[in-house]
Amino acid sequence: MLTLNQVSRRYGGSTALDGVDFVVPENTYMSLLGASGSGKTTLLRLIAGFEEPDQGTISFNGERIDGQPSHLRDIGFVFQNFALFPHLTVSENVAFGLRHRAHAPVTNETEIKDRTEAALELVGLSGFGHRGVSAISGGQRQRVALARTLVCEPKIVLLDEPLGALDANLRSRMCDELKAIRERLGVSFLHVTGSETEALTMGDKVSVLANGRIMQSDTPDNLFSHPVNAESARHLNAWNILDAELFDRDAARGLIAVRFDQIDVSPTGTVPADRPSLSATYLTGEFNGPTALSFFRASDGTLLQVVDHLSQPRLPELVEGQTYDLHFAADALRQFHGAA
Ligand code: ADP
Ligand code: MG
Repeated sequence: MLTLNQVSRRYGGSTALDGVDFVVPENTYMSLLGASGSGKTTLLRLIAGFEEPDQGTISFNGERIDGQPSHLRDIGFVFQNFALFPHLTVSENVAFGLRHRAHAPVTNETEIKDRTEAALELVGLSGFGHRGVSAISGGQRQRVALARTLVCEPKIVLLDEPLGALDANLRSRMCDELKAIRERLGVSFLHVTGSETEALTMGDKVSVLANGRIMQSDTPDNLFSHPVNAESARHLNAWNILDAELFDRDAARGLIAVRFDQIDVSPTGTVPADRPSLSATYLTGEFNGPTALSFFRASDGTLLQVVDHLSQPRLPELVEGQTYDLHFAADALRQFHGAA
């Protein structure tokens, strides 16, 4: 188990990480979701030992690892841009880490060959060893980067936006493969990403990082259905977040959230009085195949989204520029105290 306790990291006057408490359990696929600049790479670099925290501690199975040289930590790092050696073959790239690592380099050629082949087999690249890394596809380069990390049998694998350089089809296939590879190995993967779909698909658990802090760590379905604060909700791209005062009942001050797919739309004045509702103007719609997205603007300018599923449509015919009542079941509403 990897544990970060109150970890902070500043660069000059700006704070990249601010008292991060974070746990990666044993044998777990952990996703870390955060916007660009939220400190994801910094967090991974601190764990790997490429830099040190200003404050706080990092432990693995109860033993402090912060302050230890990077090469003694046995932590694997898959870099965002793969960082392969362009002039070496696939096998040479994978073997490089074994041959040249600062701690316990492997010199026995038979061992190097066997371990390299086993790592290539694990990532589905048996038979590709002799190829140059410029003569293989982006998805295959991603696997080489992974094999190069796995060949050293790390205790945990850190992946920095590993699917960012791949196109959409390849990305979803690679998602399944990463999960399967991790399950075969039994070590934890910590996968950082800016994509909520990727984080929710991949993670046995998902943490949300914002403003240098962990907002929530939860199972994907709990996080999606029960974000504990507005910042978590914002990262899921599925929740409307509104000032509670917009909402014409006795809501306390603060923010409320309602999921895109839990809002109904009716002509003004037709909503039963006991149902939470607010007035908003229809702007435009967007058709995405199985779902249709409708955009509204509330009286304070907040943009609202409503998702309709084609198999179970619930929205009336909407006219651009017309005002409607948006309403929802009382238990669909989440309330957050204070601003976030
Ligand atoms: P992410 O990976 O989530 O995009 P980073 O961890 O790269 O975010 O960066 C977090 C913040 O720290 C950003 O504001 C970034 O500009 C800053 N930062 C990261 N590395 C350095 C550095 N070496 N020197 C100065 N500022 C840095
Ligand atoms: Mg980054």
